[in-house]
Amino acid sequence: MDGRFDCPNRDGTVQAAGCIFCDPRSFSPSRRLGLESIAQQIAEGTRRLSKRYRVDRFVAYFQPATTTYAPVSRLRSLYQEALDQPGIVGMAVGTRPDCVGDDVLDLLAELSERTWVSLEFGLQSIHDRSLAWLNRGHRYDAFLDAVRRSRLRRLNVGAHVILCLPGETREDMLATARELARLKIDSVKLHNLHAVKDTPLADMVAAGRAATSRVDLPSRDEYVDCVVGFLEQLPPHCVIDRLSGEAPPEYLVGPAWCLEKAAVRRAIEAELLRRDTWQGRKLGRKRDQV
Ligand code: SF4
Repeated sequence: MDGRFDCPNRDGTVQAAGCIFCDPRSFSPSRRLGLESIAQQIAEGTRRLSKRYRVDRFVAYFQPATTTYAPVSRLRSLYQEALDQPGIVGMAVGTRPDCVGDDVLDLLAELSERTWVSLEFGLQSIHDRSLAWLNRGHRYDAFLDAVRRSRLRRLNVGAHVILCLPGETREDMLATARELARLKIDSVKLHNLHAVKDTPLADMVAAGRAATSRVDLPSRDEYVDCVVGFLEQLPPHCVIDRLSGEAPPEYLVGPAWCLEKAAVRRAIEAELLRRDTWQGRKLGRKRDQV
């Protein structure tokens, strides 16, 4: 769902340039289609999904931009409009960890007493040098603070992570996974670093070099290796909501392999089998506990 939110990392409140990979239109069909009301968007989305997957219950996902970035009265109205639509059984809200005041968390906690609510934070990495490279405009401690305050209200908390960032070793990525396990994060969305047109990242990829580091987009094999290592560190209760990221072909600069989502998923499954491993294995979980 596109609530026509802006983002403090794009409108000058935190920064004006935004994250180096960000074009909100590439994140969400709702923004590209230009549908107006939440009810309209849900009607169109549920019609499409029920035809494709033969399902009749849905989670309304507020995604493009920063979907808690508005006065609480407006948030309440938008969220409630979504929850009032036929077939909607819950709501997921994607946001920045530095954009959830206590009033917003109180609203989400109130709604979560009536329905399923997930609060998803764009984390990307626990390493501040990576967050600076991505131009996130916040540090890791913002995520820790947001998780702590969300937990006080018993909210489901999710994290978005980008794997294969330049300058991160495999061990750095695994450290992010271990930290999510330590914090008992409820769900994770994994993304391969990918570049969309008209973003600073696309310029870096085109130039071949950033100011301080070469920007190589990962190969599928590299990404699959990192995902499997990452999953081994996460406890079985952590729901993996997404295994890879992509953008519409007309927006994507690369890597092209991420357009083949089903093939990426199959490659991850094949690598899990080849290594005879599973989610939580490095935490000592047996296969039958998963
Ligand atoms: S926080 Fe999200 S919406 Fe804002 S600039 Fe970064 S990726 Fe884009």
